[in-house]
Amino acid sequence: MNAIVNTASLNDPVEKGIVAYLDEIIALRHDFHQYPELAFQEHRTSKRVASLLTDWGYEVETGIAGTGVVATLKRGDGQRSLGIRADMDALPIDEATGIDYASSNPGVMHACGHDGHTSILLAAARYLAESSQFSGTLRLIFQPAEEIGAGARKMLSEGLFDRFPVDAVFGLHNWPGVAEGQFGFVAGPAMASVDQAVIKIVGKGGHGAEPHRAVDPVLASASFITALQSVVSRNIDPQDMAVATVGSIHAGSASNVIPESVEMKLTMRAFSERVRGTLQERIPALARAQAESFGAVAEVNYRLGFPALVNHADETAFARSVAVQALGPAAVEADFRPRTASEDFAYLLEAKPGSYLFVGNGDSAPLHSAHYNFNDAIIAPAARYWVRLAETFLADDNR
Ligand SMILES: [Zn+2]
Ligand SMILES: [Zn+2]
Repeated sequence: MNAIVNTASLNDPVEKGIVAYLDEIIALRHDFHQYPELAFQEHRTSKRVASLLTDWGYEVETGIAGTGVVATLKRGDGQRSLGIRADMDALPIDEATGIDYASSNPGVMHACGHDGHTSILLAAARYLAESSQFSGTLRLIFQPAEEIGAGARKMLSEGLFDRFPVDAVFGLHNWPGVAEGQFGFVAGPAMASVDQAVIKIVGKGGHGAEPHRAVDPVLASASFITALQSVVSRNIDPQDMAVATVGSIHAGSASNVIPESVEMKLTMRAFSERVRGTLQERIPALARAQAESFGAVAEVNYRLGFPALVNHADETAFARSVAVQALGPAAVEADFRPRTASEDFAYLLEAKPGSYLFVGNGDSAPLHSAHYNFNDAIIAPAARYWVRLAETFLADDNR
């Protein structure tokens, strides 16, 4: 038996069932971690997922959005149908954890815990197939390419919910900095929209000693970056959330040369389409006006990413009540706040009612850090939660 098990909860049959094979699941998680695969390249992971689900008696469809997998299990004559989704892809990061199962794919790393999300859902899948009572249709969705915001949309465009209809869909993300195994629920906007812009300010290059003969794009970009924060503080309603971050800036290569141009890359986040629209309108206008005021020109390429993740009220209330019943009220964070990160589960929630929830990863490095690692201690409680959610949603009396 694994050391990281809360023995106090072993009276729970689901916990007991999962703990019996928890070592195998943790070994599987470490295997996924050691062989991370980038978006749409999750071939090894997807194959492993499909073969386990087949062994456990699921009807398994592969090749949806390339590497996506949907596993179906029907029991009884219940008419309800439930979808639970996990993501499988890793990130282009050089792992720096030093753990013994660290990535053996140089430059690729499970730095967002999708190895954990997949393992949690597999742990639940096995219990649901071997030991569970429910009546209806269970559909487990293993999605590729969350990190580039493309997997969910591609699965939908390939008929995900036409081929595999569900009444509601649920998903989860581990969250560093939230106590290990604590659950968080947010009704309404829970994660932000994400848009990007590449802004190039073009001036006129020249000698660093003769600035009057040049048009300095570095000075213009500095002014723009300072003014950029006025969009958030002056154009957005103070009660709304908006983020505008310049994450990359490149210009020049010598101290005595005024470069021809400066290129900046920005990310923008919002919880509403209204705020998103204001950012999309104001930021390019500001860049152009700022550049012009210095005699330079701004070229703006503003690219819309994906929308805010908006949890449905009824399904969120249901998901929360399952956590309270299955894990006790103390396991649910009283006031879990929306997060300004983004998640392409947003598209699934545009197509179907559902809720995206959070599970504390404890005191770990942040997501997308080269030092991050998923916390194995949350596999059992999270898997138990999925089992309880499925059993409750597909209970006999819900027919
Ligand atoms: Zn991520
Ligand atoms: Zn993630």
